[in-house]
Amino acid sequence: MLKTFHIHIKGIVQGVGFRPYVYQLCRAQNLKGWVNNTTDGVHIHINATLEKATQILNKLVANAPVLSHITNTAIKETAFVNYTTFTIINSESSQQPTLLLTPDFAICKNCSAELFSESDKRFQYPFITCTHCGPRYSITKKMPYDRENTTMDIFTMCPSCNTEYEDPLDRRYFSQTNSCPHCAIELSLIENGKTQYNFTDLDYVVSQWNKGKIIAIKGIGGYLVTCDATNEEVIERLRKLKNRPSKPFALMYHDIYELAEDVEMDIGEKLELESAGAPIVLLALKKDRMTPIAIEAIAPKLNLLGVMLPYTPLYKLLLEKFKKPIVATSGNISNATIIYQDDRLEELQHIADSILSNNRQIVTPQDDSVVRYGSIKSYRTIIRRSRGLAPSYLNTELELSNNTVLAMGALLKSTFTLLAHQNIHISQYLGSTDTLEAQENYQNTLTHFENLFHPDIEVILVDKHPDYFATVLGKEMAQKRNVKVIEIQHHKAHFFAVLGENNLLHTHEKILGVIWDGTGLGDDGNIWGGEFFTFQRGKTARVHSLEEFPFILGDKMAKEPRISALVMTSGVIDATALKEKFSKTEWNIYQKMMATGALKSTSIGRLFDAAASIILGIDIQTYEGEAAMQLESAAYRYFRANNFTRYYSYLKEEKLPENFIHFLFENIQQDIHKGFQPDFIAAKFHISLAHYIAIIAKREGVQKVAFSGGVFQNQWLIELIRSFMDDDFDLYFHKELSPNDENISFGQLMYYIYNKD
Ligand SMILES: [Zn+2]
Ligand SMILES: [Zn+2]
Repeated sequence: MLKTFHIHIKGIVQGVGFRPYVYQLCRAQNLKGWVNNTTDGVHIHINATLEKATQILNKLVANAPVLSHITNTAIKETAFVNYTTFTIINSESSQQPTLLLTPDFAICKNCSAELFSESDKRFQYPFITCTHCGPRYSITKKMPYDRENTTMDIFTMCPSCNTEYEDPLDRRYFSQTNSCPHCAIELSLIENGKTQYNFTDLDYVVSQWNKGKIIAIKGIGGYLVTCDATNEEVIERLRKLKNRPSKPFALMYHDIYELAEDVEMDIGEKLELESAGAPIVLLALKKDRMTPIAIEAIAPKLNLLGVMLPYTPLYKLLLEKFKKPIVATSGNISNATIIYQDDRLEELQHIADSILSNNRQIVTPQDDSVVRYGSIKSYRTIIRRSRGLAPSYLNTELELSNNTVLAMGALLKSTFTLLAHQNIHISQYLGSTDTLEAQENYQNTLTHFENLFHPDIEVILVDKHPDYFATVLGKEMAQKRNVKVIEIQHHKAHFFAVLGENNLLHTHEKILGVIWDGTGLGDDGNIWGGEFFTFQRGKTARVHSLEEFPFILGDKMAKEPRISALVMTSGVIDATALKEKFSKTEWNIYQKMMATGALKSTSIGRLFDAAASIILGIDIQTYEGEAAMQLESAAYRYFRANNFTRYYSYLKEEKLPENFIHFLFENIQQDIHKGFQPDFIAAKFHISLAHYIAIIAKREGVQKVAFSGGVFQNQWLIELIRSFMDDDFDLYFHKELSPNDENISFGQLMYYIYNKD
């Protein structure tokens, strides 16, 4: 007998073509009923037998649209209604929004084909989209994701677009971003303070690139500043204007074939570049690269290049004409937040000769995401999670309570995490909240999330460091709202983040956590960063750490690797070379500080700095992480020229020296005296660190080892760890989140839920 069944599907199911998919499937099966899309997911009512209804649900899940992500399904019988057709019912928005936000998608294959097809109505239309591609999160003002809740609300569809929009069999059925040249989003060109509206001359833009001009282009998450990547002069000019002396720039290539001439790429990396997320992928430069890119200006002294493919139709059109790679970097000065507001174009005019804008507003700014793959074993590390990857976090194995919790994250590479309606939302990378701009952006994004999800926050989680912007803000919010605030130690948050991502929080087995980063306030008031914890049945213990060294001069120490070299090697190695790095006055003052200062540190980040200073002579950094990146690059050059090996560890036995730091630098100094090449010594430094971890893991008698902290963005360190440990241990790294401080907010949430100390 026919009954009426209610099917409920949750997850990322909005703005990905889910309703037409259900419609077509049910029509093909000759089923009667309806489908709709509400703030808590997709609902379907059908007349069927239980067997048939279950079969339909299984089919729906098995063949769901590529961009959708189902987290939960339910089926139950409901009051019988005798339906005569199958229809689509419009969205309702009366309930609490429990849906996940859909990320922004790169242009799809079908739209790309139409873009270059002369007979298509959207031939060369720079804002072509469909239900399988285009902006989502960046233009969403409210939930549910419907046109009137996005910044597409000001564009009225022409009759032809409207027909597509209303046809369930069309790829643009309910496509909220639908538009065409007749109802167009318009480009504008701003030059010398004058604006040309309804601008269409893309050849002009290309000619400006060829003339060595800098052009800011409004994309998905904000303005990118672009120029010809083969023109060294314009890149150097851009560096001066952006106040960015040496931090590497990312490039955008017009296609994957051109890219393959310059970098080494395997299938995983190729798929990543062409994925809907379309991130920047860090790839190794070929020795014999073919295109004349100005590499020394783009990525000084590095062997890695950050590259992406055109992910919007506009970039595609422009690069198809230009046929050369462009530098494409966030529109901002130095480390500030990406500019996305059209009322801030004046600031962009200081950097760019022309600005190519458009009248589709951006609600949420996002930088380009960055990912990296291992060279020997292909696994993915997220370096920056933003456009295309944020903000939903899907892990159906986590058991989440009905509580509403806000976790505020750390200082640099900040994010926040919101647990609401049993969904986890992890904001995109929000920059380093030590600048006013980034603080404002953090606050705006948080307010936006509150408007989207109306969370009734019960608990706020903050880092232990009292001076972090997010800690101060979290405490203020807690006080105003009269809710509980809980401080969580930085490295424990890291540990719980990697445990949570790998679903290890329920295992009874002892797990070792290797938590290595630059800075975090420890439980003892010192600056931690080279920590080994164990986790078992909800309890955490700090079982080992790098030897303590004097922590002096605050932030200056992280900016000047020579200071780390000073505090770690004084009295250990011959001071002659070290003394040359300082003026007499500095030397005397710093000696006194070391002798009298009470603050200690165990940071591995500073160990990398010290090694970079002594091995490579990098005494002052121009951007965060520069010394460590150069050291990794040096090790890579060695492995590349001499094959990958773990043979040259300074540690000869399976036991630790009395003081690992002293032992390392004594050996490094001997190697320098022997006249060994810096690249070789850098490789030995990396090998010894991996060996060090392996020895401690053996000593702790564990099977499972988890890694978190910014140091594990270092791919060659990971390769070496795998080489030392893969056979004897189960190793766990981050998957969808970055190992750096971007994961702290998620880790704070995991700690709050699962810690039993
Ligand atoms: Zn498309
Ligand atoms: Zn139209």
